[in-house]
Amino acid sequence: MPEQALPVVAVLATGGTIAGAQADATSAGYKSGSFSVGDLLAAVPQLSTLADIRAEQVANVGSQNMTHDVWRALARRVDALCADPSVAGIVITHGTDTLEETAYFLSLVIQHDKPVVLVGAMRPATALGAEGPANLYNAVALARHPDARGRGPLVVMNEDVHYARELQKIASAGINAFASPNRGRAGVMHGGTPCFYSRNTTTHTTQSEFSLALLEKAGWPRVDIVYAHADLQGDVIDFIARQADGIVLAGVGDGNATDLAIDALTRAAADGVAVARSSRTGSGFVARDVELDDAALGFVAAGDLNPQKARVLLMLALCVTREPAALQRCFDRY
Ligand code: ASP
Repeated sequence: MPEQALPVVAVLATGGTIAGAQADATSAGYKSGSFSVGDLLAAVPQLSTLADIRAEQVANVGSQNMTHDVWRALARRVDALCADPSVAGIVITHGTDTLEETAYFLSLVIQHDKPVVLVGAMRPATALGAEGPANLYNAVALARHPDARGRGPLVVMNEDVHYARELQKIASAGINAFASPNRGRAGVMHGGTPCFYSRNTTTHTTQSEFSLALLEKAGWPRVDIVYAHADLQGDVIDFIARQADGIVLAGVGDGNATDLAIDALTRAAADGVAVARSSRTGSGFVARDVELDDAALGFVAAGDLNPQKARVLLMLALCVTREPAALQRCFDRY
């Protein structure tokens, strides 16, 4: 019997702690993005039983330094690899700090339904008990699995599988640092096999109206985040409004802020800056017209998107409209 060829999985590396190195295996200090994609793959020889791997180094940064330039490069490569019929799925290795932003961004601009799996690690590659190799093994196993198709980009960390839109980094340290606080995780990996608990009912990839081409045409609208707190002043918002196309409020509670801040955001909205209200609480829903009259103030309510994901969506939505009611429809849809 002829041997069956292994599926082809592309691994795009961008850096992060999964590729991080310490001076010694027990020290807390380390440098993200020290190892190459070749080094990461060499640490998991079992991958050769799962897939024929094609590796590419797209970047090698700590994801605190993730940029729109890297997003552009990633989206282009993912689109090209998805269009290649010989590729079964794609894995992206990534730092954990902004993993959720990259995953959500890709879920809105990639127009294919092939599995795309993002993966990172909380412990550097040189650490005692580094979990990166097991995470990478699970990511490749997931990317080649037919059940992963059509769900939008997935993230696998610590044997949990998350949908791009739901996943959030909820702890600054420890291997259990990811959760999907509102709708729950997508599933788990068991011995390299995915077990999904839910469908992704949100709008993504093949259903998304957004694309890299739209972003390039619009010049990547600038959206900044204002973090609310007791005694927040308006002048910082007036300053940001002078250079931003959009502002996301990481509001207290249900997306609220001091009267001074709300007045400044109202001035910004009147001047044509898009204003989206989200919550700094980490979970829950910011609905329209609960404590503020969004229609009168010209604001958008971000629903259950956290501030950093609301920033991604507002940037994309601003490529198609500046009108608050139409922006709200985007937030209701994605
Ligand atoms: N600062 C690192 C990064 O995001 C943290 C990590 O990967 O866990 O690249």
